[in-house]
Amino acid sequence: MKYYSTNRIAPEATLQEAVVKGLASDKGLFMPERIQPLPAEFYDTIDQLSFREIACQVADAFFGEDVPADVLKEIVCDTLSFDTPLVRVTDTIYSLELFHGPTLAFKDVGGRFMARLLGYFIRKEGRDQVNVLVATSGDTGSAVANGFLGVEGIHVYVLYPKGKVSEIQEKQFTTLGQNITALEVEGTFDDCQALVKAAFMDAELNEKLLLTSANSINVARFLPQAFYYFYAYAQLKRLGKADQAVICVPSGNFGNITAGLFGKRMGLPVKRFIAANNRNDIFYQYLQTGVYTPRPSVTTLANAMDVGDPSNFARVLDLYAGSHRDIVSEITGKSYTDEQIRETVKEVWEQTGYLLDPHGACGYRALHENLQSGETGVFLETAHPAKFLETVEEIIGEKVEIPAKLQAFMAGEKKSLPMSKRFEDFKDYLLSI
Ligand SMILES: *Cc1c(COP(=O)(O)O)cnc(C)c1O
Repeated sequence: MKYYSTNRIAPEATLQEAVVKGLASDKGLFMPERIQPLPAEFYDTIDQLSFREIACQVADAFFGEDVPADVLKEIVCDTLSFDTPLVRVTDTIYSLELFHGPTLAFKDVGGRFMARLLGYFIRKEGRDQVNVLVATSGDTGSAVANGFLGVEGIHVYVLYPKGKVSEIQEKQFTTLGQNITALEVEGTFDDCQALVKAAFMDAELNEKLLLTSANSINVARFLPQAFYYFYAYAQLKRLGKADQAVICVPSGNFGNITAGLFGKRMGLPVKRFIAANNRNDIFYQYLQTGVYTPRPSVTTLANAMDVGDPSNFARVLDLYAGSHRDIVSEITGKSYTDEQIRETVKEVWEQTGYLLDPHGACGYRALHENLQSGETGVFLETAHPAKFLETVEEIIGEKVEIPAKLQAFMAGEKKSLPMSKRFEDFKDYLLSI
């Protein structure tokens, strides 16, 4: 399968090139040239298949031409070492819990898949070592680091701003060891990102080292997110509730929802999608006006959705050939303030006993306000509430139990290398390894 750039200037790429490069040379995002519908029979019997069986069929439609079947199956099975159960919240609203992976957020799926696919390409090429550079303001670093942990032939450098990520986030990428190195940068997230970008531009570094990024726009992180939309549908079907499914996705960079839109193109019978925003409502505004106006992000309680210029918007536009009319016919939007997020977490907890995290709260509320008679809503619960412990405990006025996986991270010993924000220092360090 060839991958083209959403800017249509860069030449088409193979899957391997798209995965190693991440972003096309014209700064566009890679898109597969075809989206293959799955046969009717697959949908008829999907409720009898396991998550892994479903994911293997979806993966085959995306990657089957480029990766041998046995390898792909192993990558999928290894990636999905955890379940994504559909949990009832009310009679018509279900939570698709995507937080049962190693870092308790949905990014584990893409992070794990990409690590394994990249590992396969490296072995195939006979390259000995690839260096993944990733700048993080918190969550991406942990999903990428844990996804790549122990994958042979790959070393990950996580750059993060000193004192600007929460303790629990920091522990998730500084306690791992093995092929993961955390660099604690004396600066901001933007400084970290600038260092990574400068490294990719530096001729000497690229001559001596094989560098790649694990950015969320990478097709190997983004496409596998489609797996759990199909599995959500299968679980709804088992309940006899799949007829008019509405899926609501708490969205920031719009990678997660775009994977769902790909699923719909493959024939997944989802009636419509809702994109839930926090106060960073750039997409919501686009739906209302047809004009896309990026603006600087503001900080909210649902901070993984604090994005002012969602990178995957380019993919959404491309998927609908730029037609605002077609986009609004399949996707509606909602936007919530911190106050509304608090209110929702509290009310749902008190009325149903289900504890939402601030991102899932936007998803739940959009369904609650939007569902029409006969429809069943599924929102993606993108992270475990305990990842936002102080916020959630303060809202509900009770202690929240911390899952064993998070506690294990907390107990680990932080190891990181101090790094200045000067590129020369970072370069010297990379050349010395
Ligand atoms: C990354 C993230 C999001 C936003 O997902 P996008 O794919 O960027 O739209 C939502 N919730 C949580 C918890 C996240 O970590």
